[in-house]
Amino acid sequence: MNDFVGYRGRFAPTPSGPLHFGSLVAALGSYLDARAAHGQWLVRIEDIDPPRCPEGAASTILRQLETFGMEWDEAVMWQHTRNDAYQHALDRLIQRDLAYPCSCSRKQWQGLDIYPGWCREGVCDPTKPVAWRLRSDLGERPIHWQDRLFGEQQFDPAKLGDVVLKRKDGLWAYQLAVVVDDAEQQISDVVRGVDLLDNTPWQRQLQIALGLPQPRYLHLPLIVTAEGQKLSKQNLAPALAEDKQGVRQQLFQALTALDQAPPQALATEPPATQLHWAVANWSVAHLHPTEHRSVPLSMRPSTPPGD
Ligand code: GLU
Repeated sequence: MNDFVGYRGRFAPTPSGPLHFGSLVAALGSYLDARAAHGQWLVRIEDIDPPRCPEGAASTILRQLETFGMEWDEAVMWQHTRNDAYQHALDRLIQRDLAYPCSCSRKQWQGLDIYPGWCREGVCDPTKPVAWRLRSDLGERPIHWQDRLFGEQQFDPAKLGDVVLKRKDGLWAYQLAVVVDDAEQQISDVVRGVDLLDNTPWQRQLQIALGLPQPRYLHLPLIVTAEGQKLSKQNLAPALAEDKQGVRQQLFQALTALDQAPPQALATEPPATQLHWAVANWSVAHLHPTEHRSVPLSMRPSTPPGD
């Protein structure tokens, strides 16, 4: 299974806004895991959904990574340039009858947990625009893997449903793009938030269907609000600090959130010093396999106006 030459990791943000504390922890986890393994660390901007990606957000993210001392290798990959590669992958799935066009709207199957596959044997309404879906029932199943933190995982993709690969509006969906690009960048180790753990079965099913190598996976605890929600733009998670003091403090707090128990004296040190310590001491064994960590008080989302 491990067809990789050496360790290659990546951070793959969707540029829907600036990085917040939750995304800092994900970036830092993948960075440290790569550097501790003397590996490469790449950045991929997942800008396949332009309406969700405000102008300038990607360059803000890259600047934030630099401010926090995380330097990447090689050129940044931009998903908006990868149309041909995604189409090629979809064509291969279609040839193998593992992808099908679907005219159904979500409204038609509301009340059901997953799309029931009505268009599998032929498009229900050929006059309507179609999305392309994966035949999750025909690919490899069940899917199992050993997550480096959460241990043995087993899922039946058919129970998760026929995920969309290309949307009705012609935009590519995350599941296909991430698999094609992880392979193109020869990613050996995916390190990301545990919110994506249950997306992994589709991704592994697609890797097998397309004959691509299967990376190892390490899912990291998620940073949540006091109410238990994932930090996000929607719940007004504040952007990362830009001032010297704030950057040092937040980097230290991110190391703490990753259970690395940094010595207190490190909290006021510049990013390079903190990262040097963290790479030398990185240990996945120190991470507790619990799904959530509370956001530090100073990085709690602000209360929405009018509340
Ligand atoms: N682009 C995804 C996000 O920002 C992460 C993709 C991944 O790490 O697989 O949530």
